[in-house]
Amino acid sequence: MTQLLAGAATPDRDGAAACGSETLASATASLNSWIEVDLDALAHNAGALRSFVSPSELIAVVKANAYGAGIRGVAPALENAGVDRFAVVWVQEAVELRALGVSRPILVLGHANESDIPVVLQYDITLTCDTLALGRKLAADAFAAGKRAKVHIHVDTGLHRDGLTPDAAIRLAQALRDLPGLDVEGLSTHMANADEADDSFSGEQEAAFAAVCDALPWIRYRHAANSATALRRPGARLTGVRVGLALHGVQPDFTPEAGLRPVLQLKSHLIRIVDVAPGEGASYGLTWRAGRPSRLGLVPVGYADGWRRGLGNTGHVLVRGIPCPMVGRVCMDQFLVDVTDVQGAATGDEAVLIGAQGAAEITAEAVARTAGTIPWDVLSSLQARLPRLFHRDGIVETRQ
Ligand SMILES: *Cc1c(COP(=O)(O)O)cnc(C)c1O
Repeated sequence: MTQLLAGAATPDRDGAAACGSETLASATASLNSWIEVDLDALAHNAGALRSFVSPSELIAVVKANAYGAGIRGVAPALENAGVDRFAVVWVQEAVELRALGVSRPILVLGHANESDIPVVLQYDITLTCDTLALGRKLAADAFAAGKRAKVHIHVDTGLHRDGLTPDAAIRLAQALRDLPGLDVEGLSTHMANADEADDSFSGEQEAAFAAVCDALPWIRYRHAANSATALRRPGARLTGVRVGLALHGVQPDFTPEAGLRPVLQLKSHLIRIVDVAPGEGASYGLTWRAGRPSRLGLVPVGYADGWRRGLGNTGHVLVRGIPCPMVGRVCMDQFLVDVTDVQGAATGDEAVLIGAQGAAEITAEAVARTAGTIPWDVLSSLQARLPRLFHRDGIVETRQ
């Protein structure tokens, strides 16, 4: 018991406790709900994707708390697995990576402000530069500090979300080229139809991007592909590919099988079993009614944890290896599941929301389909309140 308490103890300074040889079973025994992240599967996926896209580099996209898996465990594991670079969206996410000991280049994909420049220089962060003013200020401050800051320029080739038109990108690159203190290292673009059945528009975007690259032959690093494009369009891999979702073992639709393994599981313990008579209802609005004498298990996960409210009365979770229907509305912190058909179901049983149990499995893709959304959304919605346990072979290495 002492050991169990020690295992569940407060994190150390970094918030990531070293857990020695604690097993997942003992680490989770006293948790209501948790996320298990398989670092071996993550390393396997990084290796498989590196070989798949070689000789292009693998840029690991770890924005949004590493797609909900937990940046504290994911970033160091990916660095050890040999990914070439990291990418995030906001400067603060890049600073967090450095604090976790990441030493590889880190690219910020999103908009940065002049007020970000001090930490950008301090932590050697590569910005995506979208204005002349930002580039000039960064160059001047870097020069004054005896440094040379790297920037990439993002080209809008048809997504019309961010970046500069091809002409504006060429003008900005040329204006920044000779500033001391600045190294215009990269050019990027992003596909609109990467995971659509018909991704032929990517061909048009590739051509538009190639024209910009040809006009700026002195910019050495070019990148255009996310997971889907990296897997299905070899011609778009260029210098590096920006892969997020596939690292987690989830392949976008219409991509060739890459032998990836699922990384994340979301689990819970049934904290109560309630018996309901025929005709009685359950959860807010009593939208579900028992058609027979029913046993309902209470799962302590709710929409505040990122578990979609739209899964109420439609989703399933696994209990004792059996898919059990979610009944009634999902509440902020909990929901109910019908365990009437599960022999011996009891308080304390493990419920699997995403992952495998016995021969049954519920994937993030399946949850996304049921919830009417996409796996990126399901994973990145998982909130900080859920404890993350990073393990290899069932032995816990770190927590978040
Ligand atoms: C999130 C993101 C990626 C990664 O996309 P996946 O489909 O998860 O691989 C790549 N590039 C940009 C610009 C992104 O915002």
